[in-house]
Amino acid sequence: MKYRSILLFGAPGAGKGTQGKVLGVIPNFLHCACGDVFRNLRADSPLGRVFIEYSSRGQLVPDATTVKLWRQFIGNSTKIGRFHPEHDTLVLDGIPRNVPQAEILKDTLDVVAVFYLKSADEQSLIQRIQRRAIKENRLDDANLDVIRERLKTYEKETKPLLQFYGSKRVHRINADQSPVKVLSDILRIAAKK
Ligand code: ADP
Repeated sequence: MKYRSILLFGAPGAGKGTQGKVLGVIPNFLHCACGDVFRNLRADSPLGRVFIEYSSRGQLVPDATTVKLWRQFIGNSTKIGRFHPEHDTLVLDGIPRNVPQAEILKDTLDVVAVFYLKSADEQSLIQRIQRRAIKENRLDDANLDVIRERLKTYEKETKPLLQFYGSKRVHRINADQSPVKVLSDILRIAAKK
């Protein structure tokens, strides 16, 4: 059985987390932010150390490790009754994050829509990330070189996913609008899926 999923897609700082949290409180939606799953690991655990090693350089954690951890998260959420695969929709934020991950998860996910939160200017993304660094105490948000590296990683590794999922599933959303307008644009489309 494949998991019915919608993807929140976009550069770091585009607002995926903000929207994901709101969408996640709608009955039958489960928000899964891959970065949060990583951040919830203990920093002194083997996997926690791998996460810090890559994320502090602005790089992606290797695919096999990422997918394994994600499957564990979904398995646990199912076991504790937070996720009911038969009638729930996953709101995926940050996974799949490159084409190889999408290939690995092809038989696991039924991606019904991709919401591409597109921001016109990089400078506003950087400002949002830097504001968040202080609020959420994120090491990878604080340093400008790491932020630039993450934006590069996004362009090079994540963006090709748009072609992978194709124009029928990808919906462009203007991420420079207020959060409530972004939400409204997403919901208008999600309600029809
Ligand atoms: P952002 O999108 O703002 O960069 P995230 O919280 O989604 O932040 O991710 C933070 C870091 O966690 C990434 O830079 C990366 O190192 C790691 N990460 C998150 N999701 C994935 C993934 N699917 N594959 C590999 N690494 C990931």
